[in-house]
Amino acid sequence: MNLILLGAPGAGKGTQAFELSKILQIPHISTGDIFRDNIKRNTELGAIANSYISKGELVPDEITIGIVRDRLSQADCDKGFILDGFPRSIPQAEALERMLGESGRKIDWIINIVVDDDIIVERLSYRRVCPACGDTYHLKFNPAEGNMCKCGSQLVQRNDDRADVIRHRIEEYHKTTEPLVEFYRHRGKLLNVRSENSISESLQNTLYALGLKGI
Ligand SMILES: [Zn+2]
Repeated sequence: MNLILLGAPGAGKGTQAFELSKILQIPHISTGDIFRDNIKRNTELGAIANSYISKGELVPDEITIGIVRDRLSQADCDKGFILDGFPRSIPQAEALERMLGESGRKIDWIINIVVDDDIIVERLSYRRVCPACGDTYHLKFNPAEGNMCKCGSQLVQRNDDRADVIRHRIEEYHKTTEPLVEFYRHRGKLLNVRSENSISESLQNTLYALGLKGI
């Protein structure tokens, strides 16, 4: 099964993709992860990607499309794949259709994870992370005693988890990525999945939408 996950930042795309990948036994392909991995390993691609990401800009389409083309040509994608973070725009979606068409493949379903903006802001702005061990807490749902991590370090708020920054990221999402929802709706491949409550509930909603309930 060839899937795309769509959803605003904080909608829980990464978690859903991770779980679906285990259940369906197909790779989870996150363009964000590929960029971060290359930046960490100081590759040429990492340096190019970082020159955009560090300024808060999107990596240009030709670079991102090249990476996805390369990844989708690997053998583990023969049974299917889950794309997370790509496509982000109509030109990327069209490029994806062309590259899949060249190898006789197509996208089966686009899972659009729908969450109200206010819930995303609450989810992300209450998040606190440990700079030492990377653990994540939530002021409401998973609070830490005295704002201290279990490992003994003081928790911090990530810069891009500030409410005003989150609002900006959500606006950007609505502007640039939401036209994709229409693009795929016209192709009759869009599945809207609500993800307001727990992760397990939204995962069940996704499996149900894919006709895989009971797994
Ligand atoms: Zn810690």
